Amino acid sequence: MPSPALLSVDLNALARNFHTLEAVTGAPVHPVVKADAYGLGAKACATRLMAEGARTFFVARVDEGVTLRAALGDAPTIYVLDGCHGGGAGVLKAADLRPVLNQPRQMQAWAEAGGGACGLQIDTGLNRLGFRPEDAPAPFEGLSLVMSHLACADEPDQPMNQRQRDAFAAAAARYPGITRSLANSGGCFLGRDYSFDAVRPGVCLYGGGPQGRPDGRIAAVATLTAEVLQVRDVKPEESIGYSRGFLADRPVRAAVIAAGYADGVMRAYGQSGAAWIAGEIRPLLGRVSMDVCTIDVTGLEVTVGDRVELFGANRSLDEAAAAAGTISYELLTAVSNRVPRAYVGRYDRS
Ligand SMILES: *Cc1c(COP(=O)(O)O)cnc(C)c1O
Repeated sequence: MPSPALLSVDLNALARNFHTLEAVTGAPVHPVVKADAYGLGAKACATRLMAEGARTFFVARVDEGVTLRAALGDAPTIYVLDGCHGGGAGVLKAADLRPVLNQPRQMQAWAEAGGGACGLQIDTGLNRLGFRPEDAPAPFEGLSLVMSHLACADEPDQPMNQRQRDAFAAAAARYPGITRSLANSGGCFLGRDYSFDAVRPGVCLYGGGPQGRPDGRIAAVATLTAEVLQVRDVKPEESIGYSRGFLADRPVRAAVIAAGYADGVMRAYGQSGAAWIAGEIRPLLGRVSMDVCTIDVTGLEVTVGDRVELFGANRSLDEAAAAAGTISYELLTAVSNRVPRAYVGRYDRS
């Protein structure tokens, strides 16, 4: 039985994006699979990416690393961006995870637990996690990666990018022979002088454009669809949904579909949401409610059981995100557990 709402994940498109990023950057691609691979399913995505040649992965949390290690087995290297804190050293070691050390107390916690392979984050201006360059530690035993993170990689003309790249190159020069990594998805498209020894893309693997808009080089991976539950004719002067969010000024044919904000359809769409149905992009009518929302299908051949695409190959993820006043990252990670994931293509290489 097809699911009322469904997130379909095209693993072949994921693989294509992986190889595109390799070709663009000329560097090894270390996929970021935090937040369950941006909601797409870390086990399926990372398994396929391994089959495509990925050998190193990044997650944000220790728990994510433990789950990923169980899914992937012993072979790949897994870094935890959060680092080592709150007694996590034992868990990191037991699962052979490498913390990215961000501050002196993490260095100390890792050393007290016996040390071992780990990364080091230098903050070059994002002012999020990591050591300021002037406070960074001297090279030490076990260090296997030095990294930093760009603040404006989705804005190629922003001079901050070059400043961060230069600051990173200078800071990393203190650690000769250690793998250097700076670029996220946006950084992969800033030029090869941002590639260093490895790149860390997330959203471009999963179909988001590097500059927050559709990009012909990146294939759609995730498609959110929902079933039409009811089709109704709405008369002029009637309204649709809570708080009379849409007032009909003409006869309207409306399709009520099985996806609401509890599935990850943003309530923030307000008047600007849209979906693809029967070959056309059609507006949402009225408010998104918890379990359903309504689409204008006036003049279209639509019946109960047809499927509507909220984002995917026909309605781009970036356009859908912009309509909700947000970014592709939030749209993907908002798709809730109520929505089953279905995979197109094999986990292992086909
Ligand atoms: C999330 C994250 C990435 C991946 O970012 P994208 O913009 O999705 O490519 C890379 N590095 C760090 C430190 C991150 O937190």
